[in-house]
Amino acid sequence: MSGVAWHYVLKFIITGDAAVGKSSLLIRLTDQRFLANPDPTLGVEFGSKLITIPEENKVVKLQCWDTAGTESFRSITRSYYRGAAGCLLVYDVTSRQSFVNARSWLQDVREHADPHLTCILVGNKVDLCADEDPTDPGQDPPTPADAPAKPGRRKREVTTDEAHIWAQEEGLLFVETSAKSGQNVEIAFERATRDILEKVRKGV
Ligand code: GDP
Repeated sequence: MSGVAWHYVLKFIITGDAAVGKSSLLIRLTDQRFLANPDPTLGVEFGSKLITIPEENKVVKLQCWDTAGTESFRSITRSYYRGAAGCLLVYDVTSRQSFVNARSWLQDVREHADPHLTCILVGNKVDLCADEDPTDPGQDPPTPADAPAKPGRRKREVTTDEAHIWAQEEGLLFVETSAKSGQNVEIAFERATRDILEKVRKGV
């Protein structure tokens, strides 16, 4: 790979409801940081990152675009989707509504983006459910449904299993992440990138 800065440049878009952590995922990926109180009016718009896919012996430059606040207006234009090879469809595992709304975000992507685009469903903020059994992150916390959440904890509203099943039905990849701890953030982008490179190899 010597002498080659990168083999591919791939455009990624990050969609989903406001406040699910789209900007935070992008900051975590590109800057290895987490901001507890990011300024919502200053949504990150763009970030770039080199990743290596060792088994393909390829370096890939990811150019990632965040909706940067426009999600509340549903005014995302075609140019945002144009040329995108990958999409992170993000919801918050502690917000049922954000998971329900992921359906209409997916519809939007399907309407506007390339039909071969690789989409990964990302359940973010798993750190908020850290009192779960870590070996089975799909379980609800073992507290009565109406018990108050521990300080700093919120109850999971979307199980791993149901999100996984929906992702399979829709032909999406799936991962749960925490932009706060960094858990699975690079993995989310790597999985999608591997899938895209596989399509490239197959000539899709
Ligand atoms: P966006 O509107 O989808 O871009 O969401 P932001 O990235 O602005 O995040 C919204 C809020 O959720 C901010 O207060 C973040 O600090 C917080 N947040 C984002 N990701 C995580 C996460 O993985 N865990 C926790 N605990 N909070 C998060």
